[in-house]
Amino acid sequence: MAVNATSTAVSPEDMWSAKEQGAVACDPNCQLLHLFCYPAQSNYSGTRYPLSWIGEVKSGRMSPVSVPGKWFVLLDAASYVTTSPLDLSAHQADFVPISFYKIFGFPTGLGALLVNNRVAPLLRKNYFGGGTAAAYLAGEDFYIPRQSVTERFEDGTISFLDIIALKHGFDALERLTGGMENIRQHTFTLAQYTYTALSSLHYPNGAPVVRIYRDSDFSSPDVQGPVINFNVLDDNGKVIGYSQVDKMASLYNIHLRTGCFCNTGACQRHLGISNEKVKKHLQAGHVCGDDVDLIDGQPTGSVRVSFGYMSTLEDAQAFLRFIIATRLRSPSDQLPAGPRKAGVPSAEGKAQDMPAVTDRHVLPQNDIGTGSGVCPDSHPGSNAMCLHPPQSEATRNQQLSLEKAAGALHGDHGPRVVTNLYLYPIKSCAAFEVTKWPVGNHGLLYDRSWMVVNHNGICLSQKQEPRLCLIQPFIDLQQRIMVIKAQGMEPIEVPLEEDSKQAQICQSKVCADRVNTYDCGEKVASWLSKFFGRPCHLIKQSSSFQRNAKKKLGKDLPPGTAATLSLVNEAQYLLINTSSILELQQQLCTSDENGKKELFPMKDLISRFRANIITNGTRAFEEEKWGEISIGPLRFQVLGPCHRCQMICIDQKTGQRNQNVFQKLSESRERKVNFGVYLMHESLDLSSPCFLSVGSQVLPVSKENVELHNLPALKKHQDVSS
Ligand SMILES: *Cc1c(COP(=O)(O)O)cnc(C)c1O
Repeated sequence: MAVNATSTAVSPEDMWSAKEQGAVACDPNCQLLHLFCYPAQSNYSGTRYPLSWIGEVKSGRMSPVSVPGKWFVLLDAASYVTTSPLDLSAHQADFVPISFYKIFGFPTGLGALLVNNRVAPLLRKNYFGGGTAAAYLAGEDFYIPRQSVTERFEDGTISFLDIIALKHGFDALERLTGGMENIRQHTFTLAQYTYTALSSLHYPNGAPVVRIYRDSDFSSPDVQGPVINFNVLDDNGKVIGYSQVDKMASLYNIHLRTGCFCNTGACQRHLGISNEKVKKHLQAGHVCGDDVDLIDGQPTGSVRVSFGYMSTLEDAQAFLRFIIATRLRSPSDQLPAGPRKAGVPSAEGKAQDMPAVTDRHVLPQNDIGTGSGVCPDSHPGSNAMCLHPPQSEATRNQQLSLEKAAGALHGDHGPRVVTNLYLYPIKSCAAFEVTKWPVGNHGLLYDRSWMVVNHNGICLSQKQEPRLCLIQPFIDLQQRIMVIKAQGMEPIEVPLEEDSKQAQICQSKVCADRVNTYDCGEKVASWLSKFFGRPCHLIKQSSSFQRNAKKKLGKDLPPGTAATLSLVNEAQYLLINTSSILELQQQLCTSDENGKKELFPMKDLISRFRANIITNGTRAFEEEKWGEISIGPLRFQVLGPCHRCQMICIDQKTGQRNQNVFQKLSESRERKVNFGVYLMHESLDLSSPCFLSVGSQVLPVSKENVELHNLPALKKHQDVSS
């Protein structure tokens, strides 16, 4: 085919109108060759495009673009053939790419390009790899390809083990399902059912719970594959970013595919994103596949669910339950609401709208019923009444008195002080609370200096091993030892510093950074291995090693202040504010059978956020407005908010998970699950010992003031410390 080919985008609408216009006249000698490529099924929306286009374009009855010439057709069937038979004798495309692995339900693997033998001679190669040459010369530009088209185009070693497995894959599929036609019916039924249920979900104010991106009304498998693409909305119609929905789904053990699905064309078309916007988003730092899900409130991508032969009705229902249970409130709902009804959103899936697949496949009434029965009882913590307690005047008052009790209410200018200090000597393990503690180059001395790694040297986190929080380290600066305790285990001692002669330096990875570490020895390794019931080691960051902080949080560091880090993920210090904790505590408040309020203990909540510095702020989340702070004689830059993940669901005393904490925080924080701010100390002079102490005054400078008076502000601070 022409090497210097040009390409033109063709939209589905172009094709519909091309059909009416018919072909462009072409004289019989016209030698121009064109290739029309289209997907049999969109991997974005599941839209199935007419297979009749193949014959119409090839025969010249229809021209995708108004140019004379002869048309060939490439039918991208990678998505289509996963759940539908394709008869190539009836639909004679010239080229058909397919992905075998998608048919079998594997995450990756073998695919194929089927080439019609009649067009094979037209194909040219402009490179070659091993196995494709009949003969070639090393010292001369001489290459003669092999005869058959497969031999010419299968460069390199073919994946013969995968190819052998194909027969067994197809045999198993046939045995399990009875064939592709059954798969087509089964998956379509599931998709139609889920689509009908999803689109019938509404908030009490009538607003839909999801916006579905589609080109068909799911009326038949001829026009629609088993794919549903959507965004979740709040009750004001605002999109809830896909990253947020994804994080929520993981709490329900559902893994979602989100973003643009390698399909920017469909993404732009359905989300209404112009070419200019795509370029602008890139400049704003959004790249394909990241979790920047909203820019100026507009979605950059969406959420996709698709069904395969192995999907069941239970899977579809589990997904629907998740959507129902996590429908989010708009921030305005948190204001003291009037009567209970107004504050309690519910899924108004009207009974007559419920899809009846077959009689026995009707979703049980109480699963997606009306009113308060929206949450299935079987799901822990998803009772609608407790999910969204309306805040009455009484609870407001209670909150005020609680704030008073905690000494948090001092008016705007009242003194803020450090109320608690914590370090986490072993990354992801329990906190060590102190009242006064030396400050080192990386933050609080010995904070995240150690970590537990598995037999491959990979750091354990609470996501895989929640019991890490049951390991309690204590540091004795006088004796220069760390004592590690855990229930049912004899305490064990580890020296604070390595024996520089014996320590074997090795490299570990923390958040893509390489750090030099050394192993703390077999004794503590077997202690940990016994506790976790699998081989682990304790390693420590080498004291001679410098890990420089990146300007990750979007801030340039002031000159001469290359911040160094311990084994933390992001920054030297994390600060949280008890007023924010109090607000979250109120939102998590539940009532027992007698209507008595039950509060999460403050200590319990504080410990989930694994902060170093706790202050009694005057207002919830005011710390996010701070640009700099000083604590006693030390000055800190506020780098930005800490984005939270499901780790905050883990009770740090027991290692148990509770999804509510994450869900509540997400609701109340307008879907940005931020809590606390990162700090970095400014030009630290360690020539004399520095300490952080409980009771030290915390003086914030707001961002605006830092930005407006940057130089004077810094200067002023220097005066304070010198
Ligand atoms: C998955 C997919 C591809 C890519 O196929 P691979 O085998 O993963 O390279 C191309 N087109 C569509 C429509 C797909 O769904």
